[in-house]
Amino acid sequence: MSDIIKLLPDAVANQIAAGEVIQRPASAVKELLENAIDAGSDTISLVIKDAGKALIQVNDNGFGMSETDARLSFERHATSKIKCAADLFNINTKGFRGEALASIAAIAQVELKTKVEGNDLGTQIIIEGSKVKEQEVCNCSKGTSFSIKNLFFNVPARRNFLKSNSVETRHIIDEFQRVALVHSDIAFSMYNNGNEVFNLKKGSFRQRIVGIFGDKYNQKLVPVTETMDIVSIEGFVGKPEFAKKTRGEQYFFVNNRFIKNHYLNHAVQNAFDQLLSQDQFPSYYLKLTIDPSKIDINIHPTKTEIKFEDERAIYAIIRTAVKQGLGKYNISPTLDFEQESSFNVPLLKSTDTIKNPTIKVNSAYNPFETKTVAPMPKKQSVENWESLYDSFKKDTSEIIEHKKTKVEQQIISPDWDNEEEKQHTLLQLHSKYILAQLKSGSLIIDQQRAHERILFEEYIKNLALGKGNSQQLLFPETIDFTIADAELLNELKSEIKNLGFDFDKMGKSSFVVSGVPSELKEQNVKKVLEDLLEQFKLNESELKLKKHENLAISIARSASIKSGKKLSEDEMKSLIDQLFACEMPYSLPNGKPIIITLNLEDLNQQFDY
Ligand code: ADP
Ligand code: MG
Repeated sequence: MSDIIKLLPDAVANQIAAGEVIQRPASAVKELLENAIDAGSDTISLVIKDAGKALIQVNDNGFGMSETDARLSFERHATSKIKCAADLFNINTKGFRGEALASIAAIAQVELKTKVEGNDLGTQIIIEGSKVKEQEVCNCSKGTSFSIKNLFFNVPARRNFLKSNSVETRHIIDEFQRVALVHSDIAFSMYNNGNEVFNLKKGSFRQRIVGIFGDKYNQKLVPVTETMDIVSIEGFVGKPEFAKKTRGEQYFFVNNRFIKNHYLNHAVQNAFDQLLSQDQFPSYYLKLTIDPSKIDINIHPTKTEIKFEDERAIYAIIRTAVKQGLGKYNISPTLDFEQESSFNVPLLKSTDTIKNPTIKVNSAYNPFETKTVAPMPKKQSVENWESLYDSFKKDTSEIIEHKKTKVEQQIISPDWDNEEEKQHTLLQLHSKYILAQLKSGSLIIDQQRAHERILFEEYIKNLALGKGNSQQLLFPETIDFTIADAELLNELKSEIKNLGFDFDKMGKSSFVVSGVPSELKEQNVKKVLEDLLEQFKLNESELKLKKHENLAISIARSASIKSGKKLSEDEMKSLIDQLFACEMPYSLPNGKPIIITLNLEDLNQQFDY
């Protein structure tokens, strides 16, 4: 057999490498911004069009490139940042692998203009799919400007794989924020489709955080500082009362590079200890400075994961520093720094006696008493319980098909108690579940999930029809969002309006809300909208839901009555009635059960009848 192994042409090799380095427009943004910083710039601007799919442009005022360097910069493994393997242990620049520009040039149309200090003229190069189309002298100012057009133009599979503009724009904003946050000594601006999104002046770290996330953040920040031999820490954590339901603003920077690290994240989470509930995440913005020889940045092409020589010690230092920060600002006056908090749970001694839990019973309480109470919103007629019986029968087959879970085996014959016992017992358990009695058993209904299902189906309908019931607010409310959230809200504008909200953008990141879905008129509008966006982001990253479904789920979640709310009998009836009018009353869109059935037979058996 003849020899068959060939070296891949450079263009192909670069395209393959690009798969690792440039996954989406945001990756190109990151590489270009980092190059601009490495070039010693103090003013950098980013311009994107069409979520970076049509154009990404980064302009800097750094030291620029000579004509030869400009041409060389697009070669693979061409870098000015390291010279030999030993340099890998003393990296003080963002880049050093020399593959970003080669990768980008392999999959896009790139235009470079660059000029070094003191030269009259600069160099312009146009390169497309790794082929140089044009190289000539040009008139430009000192520094460098890269324009990346039609990213992935020659890799259609990649281009098709990109998400919607709103998602890709948000990835770009994320990268921009990560880079801009830690370099507060550089002025950054960003323009999206011609609109200014950020205009950040040089300043302190605190000023930069506030510049990015909004003025209100100033009062949310608690300083954290610590200087030790192996690491020094400088930055802020968010006060516990501003903790979020999603892992939004969590930033670790090591030697000015944004990194992700679950272990160190845990150190911060742990330092907050009892200050946060289980579903809350602290915000933090922590800059770590470590001797470059004690870390390995080279374990991942995008360099967002790094290895530490002594991760455990760094964990302990971060945890203590954050605790001290919180303690100093009297956020947690009872913190005891000496004690390991995981040992705080009191253990029972063998001599301890265990007390029986006691229950308070209200002997005057009559579950059958009918009181007049405010009805649930959008109450539907509950003529009689037989209607429940019908829908229960109808839907039994659906749930079996929909979700083959334990519920399937528990389906009981849906016979409501007969005429003589017309009194339908409904009982609320633990302010969380509703117990309803059938002839052959009982149903236990999760009140919050039931309401979520009802609202979800209503909102899905409203989104499809394009009109939700809107109620005008007596006093329109002005609400400030972070710039990233404001962008998201703007992207989702027409859908959110279809849900029944009425709002307009005012300035860069404020909105005036003048109408809300009618069933939400009693609620705190700001909180509902913020929850809606938080939930939307969470669903998007974790469940990868479609936009409509995600929005409907998110708003249903934030607007639903919650566990812990006491319900009157009328409210319970109305809730159950609306639930059984739903197309799929038995489970949430994520498959979690809403109803559990208790079979009388099984109960009898358990009691050994
Ligand atoms: P790396 O950053 O890993 O060195 P890149 O492919 O990103 O590799 O860039 C290659 C080289 O091009 C850099 O080492 C640098 O010398 C030069 N370069 C890239 N961008 C700029 C810029 N904005 N200003 C000056 N030089 C740049
Ligand atoms: Mg680089």
